[in-house]
Amino acid sequence: MTEQPATAPPSEHSADVIVVGAGPAGSATAYYLAKAGLDVLLLEKTAFPREKVCGDGLTPRATKQLVSMGIDISEEAGWLRNKGLRIIGGGQRLQLDWPELASFPDYGLVRRRDDFDEQLARQAQKAGARLYERCNVGAPVLDPRTGRITGVEAKLGEEKLPVTFHAPLVVAADGNSTRLSLAMGLHRREDRPMGVAVRTYFTSPRHDDDYLESWLELWDRRGPQDRLLPGYGWIFGMGDGTSNVGLGILNSSKAFKELDWREVLKAWCASMPAEWGYTPENMTMPIRGAALPMAFNRQPHYTKGLLLVGDAGGLVNPFNGEGIAYAMESGHIAADVIVQAHARATPAQREMALARYPQVLKDTYGGYYTMGRAFVKLIGNPKIMKLATERGLTHPVLMRFTLKMLANLTDPTGGDAMDRIINGLAKVAPNS
Ligand SMILES: Cc1cc2nc3c(=O)[nH]c(=O)nc-3n(C[C@H](O)[C@H](O)[C@H](O)COP(=O)(O)OP(=O)(O)OC[C@H]3O[C@@H](n4cnc5c(N)ncnc54)[C@H](O)[C@@H]3O)c2cc1C
Repeated sequence: MTEQPATAPPSEHSADVIVVGAGPAGSATAYYLAKAGLDVLLLEKTAFPREKVCGDGLTPRATKQLVSMGIDISEEAGWLRNKGLRIIGGGQRLQLDWPELASFPDYGLVRRRDDFDEQLARQAQKAGARLYERCNVGAPVLDPRTGRITGVEAKLGEEKLPVTFHAPLVVAADGNSTRLSLAMGLHRREDRPMGVAVRTYFTSPRHDDDYLESWLELWDRRGPQDRLLPGYGWIFGMGDGTSNVGLGILNSSKAFKELDWREVLKAWCASMPAEWGYTPENMTMPIRGAALPMAFNRQPHYTKGLLLVGDAGGLVNPFNGEGIAYAMESGHIAADVIVQAHARATPAQREMALARYPQVLKDTYGGYYTMGRAFVKLIGNPKIMKLATERGLTHPVLMRFTLKMLANLTDPTGGDAMDRIINGLAKVAPNS
């Protein structure tokens, strides 16, 4: 979209758009760009199938995105469906079905990320995106006159061959660490919430649970008084003989930096009924963890030819730590903006179209994330967390509202009273 370099690079290494990273955000972006007829390079550091540390839980929001990408999510194809969320805390156990909505299906899914991510990447390939695996992207290539990104340097294959890829637009879909955004000067906003999450797998008779299970009570038992931590533990049956068991904690509590989360997970598992099998001998994977970048913790989402999607743009939902749906949705939104820009006649018009991307993201999620930031602050106070856990679960109607709020599942128009309250609040909250 900018002027062509004097010597055109070989065409296999140039495209209309380069997408860096083939997680859910990158594959969704590449899929929609390729579908619209653009020439797309999808560059992935690893080779599929590859592990990604995750809870592997998909809400109806993520399910909707899979349907849009034409993924076969039938049970015959190996997907385990879930009907809702089981919440445990304050001595209560509440099972809530996903809400019935016009905008989202009423079921979620579970799938291991090694296979999940590969399916998405292959779907992007089928749509026409050119996927390079074992392609480790390093520095951006910049136009010295404008500072605009015009490509990326990469090491390709086991031989680590240096290759330069060129495109007038680059999408950073390289996850939480996003070296590409950092190299373009886009640093993390410290005023936004951050989470950490750790998980492992156990062989377990609970492997085919048709509800996602969430435990609201995680305790810090180091001091004279036990403290309730802001976060939750999960048990997701994988349908393959194992359960994914993990926990996620927010940085809004004092304990955040002090605790060893692997130990907290071990202690929690040790407190569970023996017949569930969450014991060290049944563990099939080591405990691994990673960060959860939330509530737009990296901005702006567009600058100088670079768009940020998914974790690279800090799109994890601060209410529940869900990131896959937002990664795929932002990929879809970014692709739409790029396709429109691509069709404009002049560089100035293209730039005007691209500059809309941050605003579209803000209009879509900004108010909701602002509420999420307030929620994170509130539950960082152990007293409030305790009160919410002990009292909240005794009110099923309140909990149904909470489920809609936490999972961001409402109909934008024509929904019920709960939908109208949540949407109304999100609309009036500042969308920064
Ligand atoms: C323990 C844990 C549990 C979680 N549980 C859930 C859950 O149950 N449900 C949910 O919705 N979300 C969950 N999340 C969040 C979710 O995993 C992320 O939000 C999601 O993976 C973001 O997708 P992404 O495509 O933006 O980034 P990623 O999935 O991180 O993908 C980034 C891709 O870029 C590649 N890459 C990185 N650097 C380079 C480079 N230099 N060159 C080329 N390629 C590169 C990586 O190899 C990777 O394939 C969890 C997170 C953690 C840590």
